[in-house]
Amino acid sequence: MALAEGVLEIVEETARRNGAARVTVVRLELGALSHVEREALSFCFDAVAKGGVAGGAVLEIDATPGAAWCMPCGERVPLERLGDPCPRCGGWQLAVVQGEEMRLKEIEIA
Ligand SMILES: [Zn+2]
Repeated sequence: MALAEGVLEIVEETARRNGAARVTVVRLELGALSHVEREALSFCFDAVAKGGVAGGAVLEIDATPGAAWCMPCGERVPLERLGDPCPRCGGWQLAVVQGEEMRLKEIEIA
């Protein structure tokens, strides 16, 4: 819920700056390794946005694939889930470099 409120704050601030009467679409990027469930986020966003400038806006969530730096391999490897071993060498010396973030990509306003 706090996350959805954070998103809504940015959306409303952006809408205000642009003099928007209504926000129709909110597009987010959600990392595959973040601990956020898109269904839950979508549900919470609808609930907190209700009655405001972004009420009824469509929340579109694009998944960013996860990636990690594998030390034994010396290269960047794809990572589906946190806690998975390196898909190349099976090792665990991984440093996540992408996929934990959530970012507001754009909003469409009316
Ligand atoms: Zn590896």
